[in-house]
Amino acid sequence: MLELTRELLRVDTVNPPGNERAAAELALGYAKDAGLDGALAPLGDGRANLHLVLPGTGARAPLMYCGHFDTVPPGTAAWTRPPHAAEVDEDGVLWGRGAVDMKGGVAAMIVGLATLARAEVALPGDLHFLGTVGEEVDCAGARAALDRGALEGVANLVIAEPTDLALVVAHKGALFLEFTTYGRAAHGAMPEQGINAIDQMMCLLERLRDLKAGLPGHAVLGDATLNVGTIEGGSVVNIVPDRCTARVDLRTVPGVDHRALLAGIGRLLDELAATRAGFQARMTVTGDYPAVGTDLDEPLVRAAGHVLGTVLGRPPEIRGVSYFSDGSLLQPATGVPTLLCGPGDPNLAHQTDERVDVRALEHAAEIFTMLPTVLEAPEAA
Ligand SMILES: [Zn+2]
Repeated sequence: MLELTRELLRVDTVNPPGNERAAAELALGYAKDAGLDGALAPLGDGRANLHLVLPGTGARAPLMYCGHFDTVPPGTAAWTRPPHAAEVDEDGVLWGRGAVDMKGGVAAMIVGLATLARAEVALPGDLHFLGTVGEEVDCAGARAALDRGALEGVANLVIAEPTDLALVVAHKGALFLEFTTYGRAAHGAMPEQGINAIDQMMCLLERLRDLKAGLPGHAVLGDATLNVGTIEGGSVVNIVPDRCTARVDLRTVPGVDHRALLAGIGRLLDELAATRAGFQARMTVTGDYPAVGTDLDEPLVRAAGHVLGTVLGRPPEIRGVSYFSDGSLLQPATGVPTLLCGPGDPNLAHQTDERVDVRALEHAAEIFTMLPTVLEAPEAA
């Protein structure tokens, strides 16, 4: 486990340019030595996804493990230990860019497959590992895997992003909206002769807050939130403003359909136009990222909770997160239950002196070995 992680850390896969192919080849070599089937899926210069399969009996639908090979750059600050030397210190801590995000998690998943292959365990369903390129920039590898049909038939997905070995079952979605209200300019001494676009905007924002308050919450992520990030309007103090623009960041939880929500906001604008004198407004969607979440009752969550409890000797911690991952793309596209769980402190990801406890790597390898043996996946189609 430790040696595979160290070898992966010594391959520079800083993205851009990525150069993930070298890491994918190294992992493929390790997997083949354990008797696993696998292949690279080339994606341009020096880049390739890796797809490994440990065939099961075929009774149950496949489980897929997933992780990315690329890392962010080491940054400009000096590191205590060099970022691509993969040194282990006297406290049993492994240092390097990617130790946490996420070559440790990638290695743990591959070790899981290799261990099961060597032990000739007959799993009920196929176990896949998908190693991707480009997650830190544009999720190009996850996108290509979807296009290629690599996730077809997969019933459960686990991504080894760093979570401190907590179970991350959800992250919020975001809608970035720009609203403009229009009015009619007039002398500030006779506001009744104009239409104040700022007043109209204040009314609109108030009603948006009411609408947000009516949105459903989530057991792990809590409530939807609304932040008015910018507002501009008016020119001088003694003129009625004829235009106001506000940018709103609306964060949603799984189960809230953005199209339905946008339709609701459209109806709100219509209602204000019908009931409020001179109300005129326009909405533009500048960002739309769906929330993803997995039900706590899913067999995948229960199996992972059981395995974490066994390996770590304490009840599993269940969390939501704010960051995006390949799962942000893969889960909406496939609709399958998805978990994030991996070794390392997520706060050390993308930081100078990124490092991970070797014990956490070992625990992760045990977890990814055990999980497919206890998961009750749906029957194979
Ligand atoms: Zn990552």
